[in-house]
Amino acid sequence: MNKQSFTYNLTKDKTSLQSVVINEPTVILSNEFGDKYLNYRQTWMDAARKNLKLSFPIHLDIEICDACNLDCKFCLEKQRGWSKERFSSHLLKKILHEANNFDHFSSINLSYNAEALYDKNHFVEIIKLFDFFERPFDIFVHTNGVNLDQSITHEILNSKITNLCVSVDTFKKSTYEILRSGNFEKLTENIKYLYKQKAILNIDFPIVRLSCIVNEFNHDERDDIISYWKQYADIIEFQNLALPFETAQKNPKYYRSSFKCNDPWKRLTIQSNGDVYPCCAFSIFNRNLLLGNIIDRTIYEIWNGQKLNDLRKEISSGKYTKFSTCKDCQNSQYKYKVEK
Ligand code: SF4
Ligand code: SF4
Repeated sequence: MNKQSFTYNLTKDKTSLQSVVINEPTVILSNEFGDKYLNYRQTWMDAARKNLKLSFPIHLDIEICDACNLDCKFCLEKQRGWSKERFSSHLLKKILHEANNFDHFSSINLSYNAEALYDKNHFVEIIKLFDFFERPFDIFVHTNGVNLDQSITHEILNSKITNLCVSVDTFKKSTYEILRSGNFEKLTENIKYLYKQKAILNIDFPIVRLSCIVNEFNHDERDDIISYWKQYADIIEFQNLALPFETAQKNPKYYRSSFKCNDPWKRLTIQSNGDVYPCCAFSIFNRNLLLGNIIDRTIYEIWNGQKLNDLRKEISSGKYTKFSTCKDCQNSQYKYKVEK
């Protein structure tokens, strides 16, 4: 494996962060779900723009497994270590039963900060549960694609998963090995197989989103990435790195010029042990605002509880005296301001 160091140089080129849309996901989703999808997007925007206080989140991020089979250079999650804990299917059922009482609850993301397919049997057990519930209808899975073999692909094609996000980062084996230390041939084979099966079955789902984190090793590969992957993707997404707080704060160029958070009006983050946090920044970086655990609380109680209401109040006021994670987050790079 190549041992070159990683220095978190971010791109300043706005075009290099623009997604390439081959099949527009919003069209696919609105064709499939009609008003249900349009209402969901409207509620999402209202919650964000007007800080609309809903009785239940619109979206949940659930870490179905706290583990990964890769060792990427830039991984923030691995720095705190993997517990390898799996999210209990019993707990997921409890959440889905409760969530079905709320018409605006619409989307879920499985394994937002670890590898969703790390334990394939567990993954299949988890995704089958969604067959028994009407909500959420927009189901995201994030994977590095290494375990996306033929058998898992068919499980996914037969499931209610709407969006499959696969991290590719490059079109080159050598770059992939530097960045992700994985088997690029296997990744390519897996993605091509998935996309061909979708064509054979003539189905729109899952929408295949290939993701690239633009960095010092692949910043000049954009055109080649697009021509290599475009036949096997519905959308190719380019994004900047999320930096560790301490890295970002050493350099003022990474500070946000303006940022208004609206996560606590839209979503919650649940870890594999059932701990609930307001957002991924709290669950990855500073775990200093644990809202409760889903084993002995409901989502409704947590969402409407004092701790989250205090956070909303502080964010609305624009002062960050009480929650250091928010202060760090505000002064960090999640949405790096692209310099013209
Ligand atoms: S695939 Fe994702 S979770 Fe796994 S090591 Fe890489 S960045 Fe971290
Ligand atoms: S850390 Fe605070 S400001 Fe940052 S996304 Fe989370 S809730 Fe919002």
